[in-house]
Amino acid sequence: MHSEWRELDGMEGAMKYPVLRKLKGADAWYRVEGPRQWVEWQRIGSRWMKHVVVAHQHPERMTLHDILNDVERYEPVVDWPIAEGEERLEVERDADLGALTTFRVPGKAAHFIRVRSESGVRQALNWRPEGMPLLVLGGGSNMLLHADWPGLVLHVDVPGVEVVADDGRFVEVVVGAGEPWHDWVMQTVDAGWGGLENLALIPGRVGAAPMQNIGAYGVEIKDRCAWVEAVSRADGGLRRFSAEECAFGYRESVFKGPERDRWVITRVAFRLDREAPLRTDYGAIREELAGRPEAEWTARDVAEAVIRIRRSKLPDPAVLGNAGSFFKNPVLSAEAYAAFAAQHPDAPHYPQADGSVKLAAGWLIERAGWKGHDRGTHGVHDRQALVLVNKGGATGAQIWQLAQHIREDVLSQFHVELEPEVNQIGA
Ligand SMILES: Cc1cc2nc3c(=O)[nH]c(=O)nc-3n(C[C@H](O)[C@H](O)[C@H](O)COP(=O)(O)OP(=O)(O)OC[C@H]3O[C@@H](n4cnc5c(N)ncnc54)[C@H](O)[C@@H]3O)c2cc1C
Repeated sequence: MHSEWRELDGMEGAMKYPVLRKLKGADAWYRVEGPRQWVEWQRIGSRWMKHVVVAHQHPERMTLHDILNDVERYEPVVDWPIAEGEERLEVERDADLGALTTFRVPGKAAHFIRVRSESGVRQALNWRPEGMPLLVLGGGSNMLLHADWPGLVLHVDVPGVEVVADDGRFVEVVVGAGEPWHDWVMQTVDAGWGGLENLALIPGRVGAAPMQNIGAYGVEIKDRCAWVEAVSRADGGLRRFSAEECAFGYRESVFKGPERDRWVITRVAFRLDREAPLRTDYGAIREELAGRPEAEWTARDVAEAVIRIRRSKLPDPAVLGNAGSFFKNPVLSAEAYAAFAAQHPDAPHYPQADGSVKLAAGWLIERAGWKGHDRGTHGVHDRQALVLVNKGGATGAQIWQLAQHIREDVLSQFHVELEPEVNQIGA
C-alpha cells in the first residue's frame, strides 16, 4: 500500500461519518461518506449538481485527504444547505419478529426500526445506545431465532433499481438492499439482462444476497456482483467493496468472515450481460426444458424451469415455516473423500477446482434416515431432507435441538461434520 494511504487509513479511524466540508470562496460542498467515498455538491445557477466519487486509488484518495485536512481550502460546515430528505424514524418496542422471519418461530425485538435510506441507517445507528446489541434484518429467510432479541433490530428496506452503465451488451445496475430478491431477478429477465435467471425464487432481500453468496443451479451471486456498498456500524462511514474484496466463497463472504457484524449493506451493483450463455447443465433444468429445441431456450425459460423445480421440491415458507437448506454441503479434502468414498461409493459428490470434494448434505441426512422425520410441531421435510420445518408451534430451541440430533447422527454414521447454513440468532 502507498505510504501516504497507510497514514490516511490510520487517521480515518477516528472519524465519525458523514463529515461535512465546504470549499472556501466557492459554492462547492462536500459530504464525506466514509474513508473512501464522498459526494460533491456544486451550485450551478439555482440548481445543485451532485457528483459521487469512490476513492480507491491515487489521486482521489489524496483529494479526499485534502477535503478532510486542508483547512486553508476546505472549511468545516455545520449548516448544510442541500435538502437531502432525512428519514423520519420510528422506534417500535416489543416488535413481533416471528412474522418477519420465514421459520415463523416466536421471538420479539426489544426495539425495531425500519429504514429506507442510507441516512436512515446512520440515524438508526446513532440512535442506538452504546452496547445495545444490533441485528440487521432483511427478509428473515436465513435465520433461526433462539430467543427474543434484547437490542435493536434494524430492518433494511432501502428501495431502488438504477442503471448506471450500459454499453449495449453489458449493463451495470445498482439495486437497493431492501428490494425483494425474486422480483429483482424477474426484472432482469423482463429486461433481457442475463446472468441471474438461475437464482429465481430464492426468498429474501437483495442486501442479504452477498452475505452468504447465495447460489442455486450452478450460479452464485459472485458471478454477477460488481460491488457492494455498506455503512459501517462503528462510525457510519460508507464503503464500496469490490467483488474481489467481498471474498466470495461457497456460502461465504467477507461479511460472514473477517468483517462479520461490522456493516449494514445498503446497495448492491450487478454486471449483467444481454448475451450471457444459459446455464442449464445443473440439476433438472435440462429435463424441464426438454420439450423444446435447445436453440429456442431463453433466460425466461430457465427462470421458469427453476421456479417449477423449486416449487416441486421445496416447501413454501408462507405455508410451512422453514429457512431453506439448514446445513451447508460439506466439503472434504481429497484424502478424506477417498476414505468416505471407499465406504459409500454411491454418494453424490462434486469435485472442486482446488481438489477438494463437495458432498450433498441432503443425501447424508436422508441416508441417515431423517427424511420426513416428524416431531409434531416440527421435523424434516418429506421431499427434501436438507430442509427443517416448523409445522406450527415450534420454538427455535426445539428446531435447533433437532438439528443437533441430525448432526450427531450424520457424524457417527458417516464421520462427516455438518455445518449450519442458517444464521443462529441469540443462540
Ligand atoms: C424456501 C427457501 C429456499 C432458499 N433457497 C436458497 C438457495 O437456493 N440458495 C441460497 O443461497 N439461499 C437460499 N435460501 C436462504 C435465503 O433465502 C438466502 O440466504 C437469502 O439471501 C436471505 O435473505 P434475507 O433478506 O431473508 O436475509 P435475512 O434472513 O434477513 O438475513 C440473513 C443474514 O444476513 C444479514 N443481513 C440481512 N440483510 C443485511 C444487510 N442489508 N446488511 C448486512 N447484513 C444483512 C442478517 O443479519 C443475517 O445474518 C432459501 C431460503 C428459503 C426459506
